[in-house]
Amino acid sequence: ESQLNPNYNFENFLEGDSNRLARSAGLAVANKPGGTAFNPLLIFGGVGLGKTHLAHAIGVDIKDKYPEKTVLYISAEKFIQQYTDAVRKNNRNDFIHFYQIIDILIIDDVQFFSGKAGTQDVFFHIFNHLHQNGKQIILTSDKAPVDMQDIEQRLLSRFKWGLSAELQHPDFETRVAILQNKLFRDGVEIPNDIVEYVAKNIKSNVRELEGAIVSLIAQSSFNKKEITLDLAKQIVEKFVKNTKREISIDYIQKVVSDYFQMDVDTLQSKTRKRHIVQARQLAMFFAKKFTKASLASIGSQIGKRDHATVLHACKTVDNLAHTDKQFKKYVEDLQKKLTL
Ligand code: ADP
Ligand code: MG
Repeated sequence: ESQLNPNYNFENFLEGDSNRLARSAGLAVANKPGGTAFNPLLIFGGVGLGKTHLAHAIGVDIKDKYPEKTVLYISAEKFIQQYTDAVRKNNRNDFIHFYQIIDILIIDDVQFFSGKAGTQDVFFHIFNHLHQNGKQIILTSDKAPVDMQDIEQRLLSRFKWGLSAELQHPDFETRVAILQNKLFRDGVEIPNDIVEYVAKNIKSNVRELEGAIVSLIAQSSFNKKEITLDLAKQIVEKFVKNTKREISIDYIQKVVSDYFQMDVDTLQSKTRKRHIVQARQLAMFFAKKFTKASLASIGSQIGKRDHATVLHACKTVDNLAHTDKQFKKYVEDLQKKLTL
């Protein structure tokens, strides 16, 4: 079972300036898996920009051209889960062996390896084995190797061995082409000016872009209304509003804890472990910055702290952001995520 989705292929992964390098590197790898300099091929970029689609497309194409090769697609989260299970059941060696006999290994969202020392160690060995034997490794991540945190140096350096190719935000022409292709495949006709209106106004990512058009089609068939520019305007407005939704303290805590890969309970807990304290302070800082809540109210919502603690957190974050490069990066990354 390769776990590949045949609908995610090259044919419907539309080309544009934003993805040309990654797409053609993917094609090169698919033509000669393990036989190009792009090993590993690491595809990185923000949410909804096509990492998973492209990773599948490479696998699907290889399976097509080389049916005898074993191709495996797996999400990093699932890989971590499998590894944890294997350790618990004393099957670590079987786990390693299983991965060492694969010809093409595709792991999606390797940023989730960060902070997972055991998984990184086992993956390091699998990686070396596959690479030495000329097997192809394809990885995706939400950031470039240089920006990855809590990943061992020896693994990071291997990530950089091959090619890191970025998926950027598609430009207007590409967005129009993606929408038209989708409509064509779904057998739906929508006037060009409406397609262009949607493409012009939804720039966040391809997933949202497709979501808007799906919602437009659904609205029109549900209400038996024609698809008009007016209807498109209403839907686009809703989409844009939803994306720029008001930032709540809950949302901030969720984003911050996701970023540091802990759960909200941990972020709120009484622990004095440095990285958890810092995560909590960052949540407080952004709550102060992005909401109208009082210091007292912020404190009570983030782990029942008092207003002095929140004030102290804001000052600390401000200081660290000016003195600690790594910390400054956290602030910038989180700010970006919160205001996306
Ligand atoms: P990511 O893994 O980067 O979050 P996905 O691969 O899940 O993004 O892509 C989100 C959606 O956008 C999918 O439905 C995918 O098919 C579509 N998509 C992304 N890029 C393109 C493209 N260049 N052409 C066509 N569809 C695309
Ligand atoms: Mg994905």
